[in-house]
Amino acid sequence: MPVDNLSDLIEKVTRQLQYFQSLGVEDLNIPRKRERTAPVSHKGELLHKLQQEVARCQKCPLYLTRKTTVFGEGDVNARLMFIGEAPGYWEDVQGRPFVGQAGKLLTDIIKAIGLSREEVYIGNIVKCRPPENRDPKPEEMESCQYYLHQQIAIIRPEIICALGTFSAQRLLKTKLPISKLRGKFWDYQEIKLMATFHPAFLLRSPYKKRDVWEDMKKIKAYLEEGSQL
Ligand code: URA
Ligand code: SF4
Repeated sequence: MPVDNLSDLIEKVTRQLQYFQSLGVEDLNIPRKRERTAPVSHKGELLHKLQQEVARCQKCPLYLTRKTTVFGEGDVNARLMFIGEAPGYWEDVQGRPFVGQAGKLLTDIIKAIGLSREEVYIGNIVKCRPPENRDPKPEEMESCQYYLHQQIAIIRPEIICALGTFSAQRLLKTKLPISKLRGKFWDYQEIKLMATFHPAFLLRSPYKKRDVWEDMKKIKAYLEEGSQL
């Protein structure tokens, strides 16, 4: 689509949303389940606009050292959304989430529950790589969280799988260790949230794969049955 038309379209969508807001609509109310057949294009356009904002973002100092932003990717109508921590070296180079070693493992985990990367959505808590892969700082996560909240509000997955301590603690607003958070469903804004170990941790501690598999089986069962209840 020509860029001009695209920005026209985004303008229109934005105006439409503002109009709904003026009528008192507080939530995007993007349909889940049955209403999932709603036009995909709206979600795509909204995400595209957000992605452009992220690409220009200078809200925290990580913009100074990034090569590129890593917005996230996948099916805009995904029922399952994975949320990792932050881009690493290869993600920063390619602008795509989970494409390094940990990413290969995540891809296998997704396949193990009968899905493909294209059928889920994959994002991160922060969109720019922390130098030397250090942990993201609380103020960086704070600065970036608007983007993730918007992504979730637009996609409205049925399940979020939080990968690792930072993702799980941030989304659930808790300091409990991941070992206490994993393995059961939590509620995140009316979305089921399952926390599990981060694939990079699994590379260092392969014996924890069994726990992750248990968590994934619960996600699979929910997708197959729970959502029908
Ligand atoms: N680790 C993450 O948390 N996210 C990525 O995108 C890659 C590795
Ligand atoms: Fe902006 Fe997030 Fe990147 Fe910081 S990490 S510059 S808040 S996009």
